[in-house]
Amino acid sequence: MNKWNFDNSYVRLSEEFFTKVEPTKVMDPELVIFNKDLAETLGLDEESLQKESAAEVFAGNELPDGSEPLAQAYAGHQFGNLTMLGDGRAVLLGEQMTPDGERFDIQLKGSGRTPYSRGGDGRASLGPMLREYIISEAMHGLGIPTTRSLAVVTTGEPVIRETELEGAILTRVASSHLRVGTFQFARGLDDVEKLRSLANYAIERHYPDVAGDENKYLSLLERVIDRQAALIAKWQHVGFIHGVMNTDNMTISGETIDYGPCAFMDTYDPKTVFSSIDTDGRYAYGNQPGIGGWNLARFAETLLPLLDEDQEKALAMAQEAMEGYLELSKKYWLDGMRKKLGLFGEAEEDEALVQELLKLMKKHEADFTNTFRALTLGEEVEMVEDQVFEVWYKKWQKRLAEQDASEEEMRERMKANNPAVIPRNHRVEEALKAAVEQDDLRPMRNLLDVLADPYAYGAEQEAYTTPPAPTTIPYRTYC
Ligand code: AMP
Ligand code: MG
Ligand code: MG
Repeated sequence: MNKWNFDNSYVRLSEEFFTKVEPTKVMDPELVIFNKDLAETLGLDEESLQKESAAEVFAGNELPDGSEPLAQAYAGHQFGNLTMLGDGRAVLLGEQMTPDGERFDIQLKGSGRTPYSRGGDGRASLGPMLREYIISEAMHGLGIPTTRSLAVVTTGEPVIRETELEGAILTRVASSHLRVGTFQFARGLDDVEKLRSLANYAIERHYPDVAGDENKYLSLLERVIDRQAALIAKWQHVGFIHGVMNTDNMTISGETIDYGPCAFMDTYDPKTVFSSIDTDGRYAYGNQPGIGGWNLARFAETLLPLLDEDQEKALAMAQEAMEGYLELSKKYWLDGMRKKLGLFGEAEEDEALVQELLKLMKKHEADFTNTFRALTLGEEVEMVEDQVFEVWYKKWQKRLAEQDASEEEMRERMKANNPAVIPRNHRVEEALKAAVEQDDLRPMRNLLDVLADPYAYGAEQEAYTTPPAPTTIPYRTYC
């Protein structure tokens, strides 16, 4: 028995929300990587999975017991333009109930065409699927809410991009795939009862404690705002740039989703963009909190018919909730930055202290992760010669001296909030190159091992702290 334990709730929604479709069978599936820890959490046992040919299951050739495969419908603002979308290359196999009673979507990504594929081939290639595996597991290690990766298989079939690439399928695990775009799709149906059914479903699945609230739809909006404000602040704290914060890539659960052109920043600069298609820098590092707000405003708009019969009142409620986003976004960001500097309590000057440091880091093109790592360890930072930095350092020391915490408590706080290691682009590329070109998974496994424990300041982590060699060619990512 491989302990698949599906209870598929999404398929019980009104039929417009999905299309039943099976993964397209592939020629010659082979398991490349399998996440044992995650499998255990899900209640799947590896040995039996192997026996029943895990590759066949994670390629979509064999459906697990209880699976009711479907592609989800959704819409989304892509770089500001509202479009009808849907799972064009993914199939939801079902919802796994874990031994702990938790519910997780099990989705195959790259599993063939669906009615939402438009011109696409429904497929994915090995490099990007392994990349999603690495980055999503790194985010999990960093303690940032995220979808996770259970397995990657190759298909034995080529996919045609600029060149011919090896086809692959990722098994993605998420607390759900409900997105802001799912609500935009529902609103577009022009049927309040269908919109209500989706909102009720989201509440039941993610925020059951608000079900009894006087205005539970307002509570839903406030909860999603809160989770997203917290999430994006966490991205800022580790220098993560999502790269494609379209509304179809923003979850209702507050998990990070859709690891396409994302990457971590080395040198600190709020304007940092890696995505080759983000030519205007809409989704640049420094814009993420603002774009999060823009996306949440689109979410709020979809809920207007549910907030109040009087649409003027509904609008006022939504606007007030959105003002809450600004406050929460700032609060979560500042709280986390305080922790990165080992600060306890709140002092008036904290925000200025943080801003002054960031300004110095920008001026000196300091490495984001290593600056905080050096401050944590009491080592020299890159801008140590700058007198402005000296002034800043004294202010910081004074603030630390005034707080009611020991030196040890301060260091512990800094270690717990400043990762010693992040998935640096050059290390990720190196691991992917070995895996894709040489079939050598060792660099990827070593990287994953270190990233599973990024706040440990050990020798293992130390080896991965070196920034990339200076280059004039900017790092570019692709969807
Ligand atoms: P993304 O940029 O990954 O959020 O994807 C945007 C939309 O394009 C989603 O509806 C995807 O399902 C769809 N899509 C991306 N790649 C493909 C592909 N190779 N074949 C079909 N649909 C795709
Ligand atoms: Mg997407
Ligand atoms: Mg994508």
